[in-house]
Amino acid sequence: MKAVEVIDDLRRRFPHEPEYIQAVEEVITSIEEPYNANPEFERYNLIERLCIPDRIFSFRVSWVDDQGRVRNNMGYRVQHSNAIGPYKGGVRFHSSVNLSILKFLAFEQTFKNSLTTLAMGGAKGGSDFSPRGKSDMEVMRFCQAFITELWRQIGPDTDVPAGDIGVGGREVGYMYGMYKKLAREFTGTFTGKGREFGGSLIRPEATGFGNVYFLLNMLATRGIDIKGKRVAISGSGNVATYTAVKLLELGAKVVSMSDSDGSIVIPDGLTHEQLEYILELKNIYRGRIREFVDNYPDAATYYPGERPWYHVKCDIAMPSATQNEIDGDDARALLAQGVIAVSEGANMPSTPEAVKEFLAARILYAPGKAANAGGVSVSGLEMAQNSQKMSWTAEEVDQRLKQIMADIHTQCELYGKESDGFINYVKGANTAGFMKVARAMMAQGIL
Ligand code: NDP
Repeated sequence: MKAVEVIDDLRRRFPHEPEYIQAVEEVITSIEEPYNANPEFERYNLIERLCIPDRIFSFRVSWVDDQGRVRNNMGYRVQHSNAIGPYKGGVRFHSSVNLSILKFLAFEQTFKNSLTTLAMGGAKGGSDFSPRGKSDMEVMRFCQAFITELWRQIGPDTDVPAGDIGVGGREVGYMYGMYKKLAREFTGTFTGKGREFGGSLIRPEATGFGNVYFLLNMLATRGIDIKGKRVAISGSGNVATYTAVKLLELGAKVVSMSDSDGSIVIPDGLTHEQLEYILELKNIYRGRIREFVDNYPDAATYYPGERPWYHVKCDIAMPSATQNEIDGDDARALLAQGVIAVSEGANMPSTPEAVKEFLAARILYAPGKAANAGGVSVSGLEMAQNSQKMSWTAEEVDQRLKQIMADIHTQCELYGKESDGFINYVKGANTAGFMKVARAMMAQGIL
C-alpha cells in the first residue's frame, strides 16, 4: 500500500481517533521520500504494519475510595512496536485519556525511542483516572488495582512502563511495589523509580533538562546565546518545572507557566526563590499555579482559563503541558512578536496548522519526539543500571544525557537539512526514527 493510501485507510477504520490519525499523518507525510526510495517497504506493506500497534490491552480497574464507594475506571496498555527493543513508554493518568490519545503517544514513542540510540521499542498506557483531588491512599489503591490487571503483560525485557501526565514518583512507587509483590522479583520493570529502590539520578529532571540541551544545540546552529533570552513555558508539572530549573541556571528568563486552570505571566522572569516556591507548591502541596500570584502579587499576572501564548512577550516557547496546546492562531501570535525557537517538551503540543506556520517562518522548531526524548533516554540508562545492579553518579548520567541529545540533533541535521542550510527537524526526526525501525522490521520478517 502507498503511504498516502495508508492514512486514508486508517482514517476509515479508526474514524473516532483524531489524535492517532494526526500523529500518523505527520510522520507519514514527512517520510515519503525515503519510503519511495525503498520499494521493498511497499512490497512488505511496512507502513501499515508500523502504524498499527502490535497489540492493545484494555481492562476495568475497580477500586474503593475514602468514602467506601466502589469506583470503576478504564485501564489500557498499547504495545506499539518491539522491533528494536522491549516495549517502553509512560503511563498517563488523566480524565481525558482514551485509546486515540494512547495510540498516538505509543506511535510517537516508537520513533522517539529509535532516535535515542538506545534499544527500546514503543508503548504507552494509562487510565481515565485523575489523581487530582485524590488522597494518597486513594491513589495507592488505584495504582495497585491497575497493576493487578496489567502485571502479566510487563517485565524488564518485555515492556517497561514509566511516568507521564498524572504519574510521577509517587504513582510509579505504588505501581512498582504492587508489581514486585505479584511477580516476586526485583528486576526494575518500571523506570522513574525512587532513588532508594533502583531509580536513576537525573531521571526526574531528564525531560526538561534534555529539552534545554536540545534547544542549545539548535541555537548553536545560528550562533545564538541562551543568556538573557525570554522563554515562555506552559505547564507546571515535571517537564515544565525542570525546564525552568535548567533555563535559570543558564541565565535565561522564564516568563510564563500554566496548569489546566490558567496561566501566569512574569514579565521580569522568575527569580530562583520564586521557582523554588513553584517546585514546592506543585511537588509537595500539589497546589495550583494561580496561588503564585497570591504569594507574589507584584511579580505576575494570572490569566484564568487561558494558555500563555497570547499574553507573553518571549523569544523562545517551550510548550510542556499537553497535546494540541498551540493552535494556528497561537503560532501566529508567537511569530508576530518575533519568536526564534519553539522546542517541544510535551508530546505533539502544536497542531498541524501551527507546525506549518513554524516551518514556513523557518524558525528553529523541534518536535517533541526529538526535543523531549531526554526523559526516555535516562529511563533507558535506568534500565542499564538496573541490569548491572549499579548506580551511576548524577554527573555521569547528565553527561550521557547531553551526549544523547547532541546525537539526536545530529541525526535530525543529517536527514532534515535542506539545500539552503535550513534544518527541518520534523522531517529529520521522523526520517531518522523511521529508517531504523523500518530496517529492523525488514530484517525480522513478517510478524
Ligand atoms: P505532569 O502531570 O507532571 O504535568 C502536566 C502539566 O500540564 C500540569 O501543569 C498540568 O496541569 C498541565 N496539563 C495537563 N493536561 C492539560 C490540559 N489538558 N490543558 C492544560 N494543561 C494541562 O506531566 P509531565 O510534565 O510529565 O508531562 C507533560 C507533557 O510532557 C506531556 O505531554 C507528556 O506526554 C510529555 N512528556 C513527559 C515526559 C516525562 O518524562 N514526564 C517525557 C516526554 C514527554 P494540571 O496540574 O492542572 O493538570
